[in-house]
Amino acid sequence: MINKTRQHINQNEGLIFEVSSPGKKGYQLPDLDVPEIDPAAALGVAAVRSEIEDFPEVSEVETIRHFTRLSTQNYGIDLGLFPLGSCTMKYNPRINETVARTPGLAWAHPYQPESLSQGCLEVVAVLERMLLEITGMDAVTLQPAAGAHGEWTGIMLVRALHESRGNGRKKILVPDSAHGTNPATAAMCGYTVENLPSNEYGMLDLSALERQANEDVAAMMVTNPNTVGVFEADIQKAAAILHAKGALVYMDGANMNAMVGITRPGDFGIDVMHLNLHKTFSTPHGGGGPGAGPVAVKKQLEPFLPVPRLRRVGELWTLDQHRPASIGKVRAFIGNFGVLVRALSYILAHGGPGLRNATLDAILNANYIRKALEPYFELPFKSPSMHECVFGDDRQAAKGVKTGDIAKRLIDYGFHPYTTSFPMIVHGALMIEPTETEPKQELDLFIDAMISIAKEVEEDPKFVLAAPHNTRTSRVDETTAARKPILRWRPGQ
Ligand SMILES: *Cc1c(COP(=O)(O)O)cnc(C)c1O
Repeated sequence: MINKTRQHINQNEGLIFEVSSPGKKGYQLPDLDVPEIDPAAALGVAAVRSEIEDFPEVSEVETIRHFTRLSTQNYGIDLGLFPLGSCTMKYNPRINETVARTPGLAWAHPYQPESLSQGCLEVVAVLERMLLEITGMDAVTLQPAAGAHGEWTGIMLVRALHESRGNGRKKILVPDSAHGTNPATAAMCGYTVENLPSNEYGMLDLSALERQANEDVAAMMVTNPNTVGVFEADIQKAAAILHAKGALVYMDGANMNAMVGITRPGDFGIDVMHLNLHKTFSTPHGGGGPGAGPVAVKKQLEPFLPVPRLRRVGELWTLDQHRPASIGKVRAFIGNFGVLVRALSYILAHGGPGLRNATLDAILNANYIRKALEPYFELPFKSPSMHECVFGDDRQAAKGVKTGDIAKRLIDYGFHPYTTSFPMIVHGALMIEPTETEPKQELDLFIDAMISIAKEVEEDPKFVLAAPHNTRTSRVDETTAARKPILRWRPGQ
């Protein structure tokens, strides 16, 4: 029920305009000790307003309390479990921020001469080396600013390689379990996208691949673990099928937090891949950035990597701009340096065994949730989960309650909703990624909430359909809210 009782502090905090009272001030100034002048005479009439329309007039303490209360209406990873996982906001260890604020790194200017930038270039060099060790690839560019940007860069490299062989291949194969950016990237790079079906385990269907792989295929783009949280167990066989036809294998490595320290794409047939440093290596990226999507490649693609390339000349690092086969620059300078620093900090703070443990914990946490919720929600694919588990809403939908409704009800329990309706190959998907940092107590609270909601759906589906009950706003018209957001307050609204 919407709480209509009058409460002193509640979620339905009024707007600051509504508590405005003419003449109230949030500041005290001493008497002028210089002659007063007429601002309109000094600045011109056009530059001076006699009044700011609808400007809220409130005291200092009212202002502070209002914004403090507003700040508590948000939900963040520092408050509790965020089941959207590394894809959106995994916990960012504070050490990363400390390191990124090191004055010599934070204040370095990209136009500083190379001789004065050796420390920053060393950071880049060490990060490159570590990412190569983690992925098992031969060379890496740190330039792309995000995962999707990395995909675009990677496929441009594939195109450059085929073109250098005088070969105008037209198609890119994309499994239906791939991330949506994969087909979008292929299309942006001028390729025709051909869909590959998954089998009953949520994995690549090799017999379909055998049929579809031919000399017109430039590459397959595969998300691994894929969007249903399943590791492509046949990836080596798939790579062999494609390689035999002269096609390459691109791996979307956004889900590498299920793989780091356990297995390496470079060892199972991948030719080119991207990493999302802002996911796997924890840089916060809520609200749209900044990110970093390094692209790692096997030797044959190295000549085409974006310029500049870091090169050691004697005792010094230098940036090599003269690489004739390069696809050019994809981002200013060497990329989002602050994100690179945080990723390196994360890697070094964990060390090799620590990174492997983080991966194991991420997998353990996802499977713990999967097992606990399996009796209550439809599990479409029975393969073990990697970093995330995916349910469908079939059982609840029979009572008229969809994945989005369950997610809304979860808000009342104090959790951020999980990912709803994605991936598309699962009907009414509930995708849950807890990540490695969550303690068992937090997972248990989340599981309790989900089980409790499953029972509510059985007993009183209407109640769930009206959720959330305890928030400032309940259900909004999501389409209108996205297309015609009301961002300015007007009197009487
Ligand atoms: C997040 C994600 C992307 C896109 O990465 P951005 O950094 O958001 O551009 C691509 N593929 C997968 C599997 C992802 O999770």
